[in-house]
Amino acid sequence: MWRAIRPDSNSVWSNGQVLSRLRRYYDILNDRKPAKMLVANRVEVDSDLNASTDKLWDQHRKASGKFRVLLREIDRGNVDLKELDTPKTSYLDLKVELARRILASCHFCERRCGINRLEGKHGVCQLDAKAYVSSAFLHLGEEAPLVPSGTNARAFLWRCNLLQHVHV
Ligand code: SF4
Repeated sequence: MWRAIRPDSNSVWSNGQVLSRLRRYYDILNDRKPAKMLVANRVEVDSDLNASTDKLWDQHRKASGKFRVLLREIDRGNVDLKELDTPKTSYLDLKVELARRILASCHFCERRCGINRLEGKHGVCQLDAKAYVSSAFLHLGEEAPLVPSGTNARAFLWRCNLLQHVHV
């Protein structure tokens, strides 16, 4: 569909500079490489997710190194993601837990309100722990390299100036 509506979304990949700058994205589009989120979900962490926040950040630093090594090996074709087990607790789980703790005393942005969004409290952005979608639609005006993903639906979020929209 995108090739008919936005032919530039296909032809842009013949531009060497675009291709070299977005090489990994292009490979993900073409099912040659996995998204980093999927790789993060295969990196095991020792951590008990009930541990202190300092301990979790310490684990996060260690897991970041493991993640980078695994990503490099996958990208070089030395490891196949599909052959890796999903660990009981992954680097991705750890990130989710740390994000949850940040929400509990919110310092996601420079306002650093310190309120507990998990309890429904509102800071300057007026958000609690949920995301509020103001509109969702197929977006035709996106930059050409981003259009042919086949999943170029876009959702606009309410209130938060730091995260106004997401590609779905
Ligand atoms: S403005 Fe919102 S995101 Fe920023 S610190 Fe306050 S509650 Fe958190």
